[in-house]
Amino acid sequence: MKSAFVYSEEFSRYELGPLHPFKTWRAKIVYELCHRYGLLDRPWIDIVKPEPLCFEKLALFHNDEYLRLLEAASSNIFRFEMLGCGLGTDENPVFEGLYDLITLAAGATYRGAELLLHEDYNLVLNVFGGFHHAGRSHAEGFCYINDAGIVISYLLQHGLKVAYIDLDAHHGNGIQDAFYSDNRVLKISLHESGKSLYPWSGFESEIGDGDGKGYNINIPLLQGTDDETYLYAFSQIVPPLLQSFAPDITLAIFGADAHHADPLVHLNMSNHPICKAAQAIADLSPRVLALGGGGYNIYVSARTWALVWAIMNRLTPEDIFLGAVGGMMYGPEAESGSLAEDHPRIVQDSAKEQAQRDAERVVNYIKKTAFPLVGA
Ligand SMILES: [Zn+2]
Repeated sequence: MKSAFVYSEEFSRYELGPLHPFKTWRAKIVYELCHRYGLLDRPWIDIVKPEPLCFEKLALFHNDEYLRLLEAASSNIFRFEMLGCGLGTDENPVFEGLYDLITLAAGATYRGAELLLHEDYNLVLNVFGGFHHAGRSHAEGFCYINDAGIVISYLLQHGLKVAYIDLDAHHGNGIQDAFYSDNRVLKISLHESGKSLYPWSGFESEIGDGDGKGYNINIPLLQGTDDETYLYAFSQIVPPLLQSFAPDITLAIFGADAHHADPLVHLNMSNHPICKAAQAIADLSPRVLALGGGGYNIYVSARTWALVWAIMNRLTPEDIFLGAVGGMMYGPEAESGSLAEDHPRIVQDSAKEQAQRDAERVVNYIKKTAFPLVGA
């Protein structure tokens, strides 16, 4: 086993705005949690510092003109076309330093892919990655540069088969749109239904087009989905598809926003299903590039990502500063006294019952329509 935690202090250098829900400093908290709980100081683990990604590599996925607008926006130059590309909105504000920040995030994900491809690593985490809503020539949903899309393009160029598993609570629309008719990428997204949440897409009937038909899997979940329903849907769909597709690399977005404490999402889960999913993905994939994705309750999210990292490295978090004067804990980890996984959250109410029935319907639909096309 050889794994890399890609991290830079520069991730936290800029802010999207004091009222913006995306907080860049969460990456620093994950790093500190992992350090404190003994999850970095192991012989097989390297901490790798990323560099910003160059224009040429950004253009593996993005349109040149859009990239030039991004660069201009970051130098406080206003151009009317920016508005048409989703730049300068409340959701995707522009400011000096933006280009440095987002190209560094993309550079971190890209570096991760290089380590997996050329340097014998089998696991990489970039917590500051997974900007799955950005399109080839537009920004949306707090995403400007689609690091996952760039890396998928890069891996396809090298002739690899890629599984993309998106556990962020929002549908991975940017990836779906870009690779909808491509059967070299198996795309699976579990998310809150587009009936109640941005980006209002990701229904089970969107199963891909042309050669890619069957290779685009959406599992929309209703509000009130608890751990039991989520794990039912995950275990029915993800392992069989991963096994029959047999990817060379799995790109997984561990969005921490499916947690019941997330302020933007309406699912009713603990971090338990994400931990179970991390275990299953690690067991079923030869190489994993793990990305953070969304998560707007900062401490809950940081704790989820530290746990995902621990699980994929087969480590049990241990508080190396336990009892030390000056040792400090963060938010919910302080409440529970440890970094341990949440107890499963199993709810018995009408929302859950409805969510379970709907998940069963979706699972049956996917098994009937997409499974035969992928050979599962
Ligand atoms: Zn999200």
